Amino acid sequence: MATLLTHGGRHPERFHGFVNPPLVRASTVLFESVAAMEGRTGHLYPYGLTNTPTIEALTEILTALEGAAGTVLVPSGLAAVTVAILSAAKPGGTILVPDNVYGPTRRFCDESLPDLGVAARYYDPLAPELGALDERTIIFIEAPGSLTFEMPDIAALVAAAEAAGAVTMMDNTWATPLFYRPLEYGVDLSISAGTKYFAGHSDLLIGSVSANARSFAALKRIHRNLGVQAGTEEIWLTLRGLRTMHVRLARHQENALAAARWLAGRAEVARVLSPALPGDPGHALWRRDFAGASGLFGFVLDAGEDEAKRFLDALRLFGLGYSWGGFESLAVLGELRHTRTVRPWREGPVIRLHIGLEDLEDILADLDQAFAAMRG
Ligand SMILES: *Cc1c(COP(=O)(O)O)cnc(C)c1O
Repeated sequence: MATLLTHGGRHPERFHGFVNPPLVRASTVLFESVAAMEGRTGHLYPYGLTNTPTIEALTEILTALEGAAGTVLVPSGLAAVTVAILSAAKPGGTILVPDNVYGPTRRFCDESLPDLGVAARYYDPLAPELGALDERTIIFIEAPGSLTFEMPDIAALVAAAEAAGAVTMMDNTWATPLFYRPLEYGVDLSISAGTKYFAGHSDLLIGSVSANARSFAALKRIHRNLGVQAGTEEIWLTLRGLRTMHVRLARHQENALAAARWLAGRAEVARVLSPALPGDPGHALWRRDFAGASGLFGFVLDAGEDEAKRFLDALRLFGLGYSWGGFESLAVLGELRHTRTVRPWREGPVIRLHIGLEDLEDILADLDQAFAAMRG
């Protein structure tokens, strides 16, 4: 994978030997004749919305990383989720969504799918009751889920879908294809918020969806018909980010595991939410399926919400902000009260941390002083 991240999507021979592909800004592409225009189906780059050498470079490396039939790029991770769902949604059908799904995915399913005749039903990721499935069913997977990091049994969900001819898709943003390759495990569509670890520097928004041969034609069709495409600058910067993703993720993982272990030993912490920790309810499934862990996990505070806010406000190194996957450490208070419908959250406040690339002792010192400030 490290070799693929280094060499994938690069064709220096096409660009005078330059190591990186050019950042092509384009709408119009000129043709030599009407005959050439009429035959444009065979033209590699008929229009800037469809393809450019920059788009091609990123789709090529992501398709290889995912082991996919093809990949489409979109302007955000959320657009990757919605385009993937729209590619498979059928009127009268159902989408089964984990209760711990990324919040805006739930909002799309609740607010925008019913008008298309698609009903959203939520399942407990730890004990899914899927009901009757058919070819109009989509099983949506996120592993581990947002904020609380429960690990579903992906193989069981895929087996249930395959038996009924249902479509499976997985938001794989947390693991990246370095640590989990959904298509290899029978999932039809793999969704990534490239905003996070692909790009890795908190400076852009991008998304991608990769699909197997069964699902790629429908994905490509909806992508073309919606007219969505990632911006060329974003694509180019994402290619740059990808070249070092394995190096960054190794450090994120090392720092995050150490921080999770440290937090597990603190009196202020009721429970650490990380499948990479032995003892976590999702640890066995994580070990079975995943090759590593990223820098994102949570913990339940053994205190109230006021204390949680005091803790967060006292952090100095950790920024308070949405999104994650950049080089820096971040923290947010998990909003769970209105987002769990199958199994309401009854434990204490959840703090989600993204552990960055800083020195571990500085990360721990910041958490330590924030606990001290919280206690008063
Ligand atoms: C951040 C995130 C997204 C959305 O990505 P954006 O680029 O911010 O739209 C989707 N899924 C998960 C799991 C995420 O964490």
